Amino acid sequence: MKVSKFGGSSLSSAEQLNKVLNIVRSDEERKFIVVSAPGKRNPDDTKVTDALIKYYNNYTSGKDVTTDQEWIIKRYKDMADELGLSPKIIDTISEAIKQLADLPIENNDFLYDTFLAAGEDNNAKLIAAFFSKNGLSARYIHPQKAGIFVTGEPGNARILPSSYDKLENLRDYEGVLVIPGFFGATLDNHICTFSRGGSDITGSIVAAGVKADLYENFTDVNGIYAAHPGVVKKPHSIPELTYKEMRELAYAGFNVLHDEALIPAYRGRIPLVIKNTNNPEHPGTRIVLEHTGADVPVVGIAGDDKFVSIDISKYLMNREVGFGRKVLQILEDLNIRFEHMPTGIDDMSIVLRERELTPIKEQEIISQLTHNLEVDHVEIKRGLSILMIVGENMKSHIGVTATATKAFSDNHINLTMISQGSSEVSVMFVINTENEKKAVRALYNAFFSK
Ligand code: ASP
Repeated sequence: MKVSKFGGSSLSSAEQLNKVLNIVRSDEERKFIVVSAPGKRNPDDTKVTDALIKYYNNYTSGKDVTTDQEWIIKRYKDMADELGLSPKIIDTISEAIKQLADLPIENNDFLYDTFLAAGEDNNAKLIAAFFSKNGLSARYIHPQKAGIFVTGEPGNARILPSSYDKLENLRDYEGVLVIPGFFGATLDNHICTFSRGGSDITGSIVAAGVKADLYENFTDVNGIYAAHPGVVKKPHSIPELTYKEMRELAYAGFNVLHDEALIPAYRGRIPLVIKNTNNPEHPGTRIVLEHTGADVPVVGIAGDDKFVSIDISKYLMNREVGFGRKVLQILEDLNIRFEHMPTGIDDMSIVLRERELTPIKEQEIISQLTHNLEVDHVEIKRGLSILMIVGENMKSHIGVTATATKAFSDNHINLTMISQGSSEVSVMFVINTENEKKAVRALYNAFFSK
């Protein structure tokens, strides 16, 4: 059995929905279809979820919401008309959208989530009706009925472990089930959404729950590219990635899949594939527990900017017991997350994301390091980027870092720091942001041009 999740761009118009129908019809194992809300039809369009946010804002500030309601209903109606669905489905959707404006505003922590969830919920109803009209035995199921129970943190729900047993019962349903993504129900019957883009999480939860053979995540690209297509011209799509590699690439800016979506499928040992609705013949990218394909040392190259480093030196630092802990304590007290910490004998750099450092926190760090820890020198460097080469197989290959550093030197790119964890899943280089794009291209050519 397969769980197939379709993102907003795959569900934005009647034309896209026809592609989805063909995909579902072409494989009987596609039994669980998880759907997002309709996405943009063109770059200037509005996503239904964003239209619902506007509707919510106007409703809660007491403004007239007729235009908002009409826009959203029309969005579904246009698709339903083009697909030749009976007006009944639009009546149902229209009522659901209008009823949102009858919900209490006061003492209602879940109002925002309830508005947002309507995008997915109504799309699932429409898609189930569309599938049925075209001869599939399909039905819509509400996440609460399906068994997706979540914690009550609005906008940031977490799945409750007890959901998985309930979800397993879905295996007994005949035909195709269409499940809205992005939200679940709390134990006291409130609608609570995952964070934005969270339909991927629903897909992963359902896949783990029904113990699927595969979780297919359909989007609008041919899988995960080995480098950013905006930087490298026509990069190849990676045929196979491990969960660990995916996590490393996602960390450094590869955003094809929601971060939290990896966990349920990983724990359930469910293989995952990222595929393209517009090119379903393409094999896409498989995300697996262990590599099965060719022994390639590097699978992808990622670059991300907006990093800073706190560079600290102190003579005989290596002999001072507890120095590192004291430095990290300063950061912890200021509630600052750090990302990497390359060290030397008498120096230490702490690399963090720029957003962690406000001017006040920066002053406080410098003052504490100088006065309490009596460092000889401290400097905060901005405008840094990190580059990562990622691949679990690099541990059994010699010369991977050498290939990367040669690419840097051939392109006159100065390396500020290098760091490789003992798991050898990735090597991270810190460089000045002005060289980031050039560096990504240089690395891509070095590892993949052959
Ligand atoms: N519709 C939701 C959002 O825009 C969830 C999703 O598409 O996955 O964030």
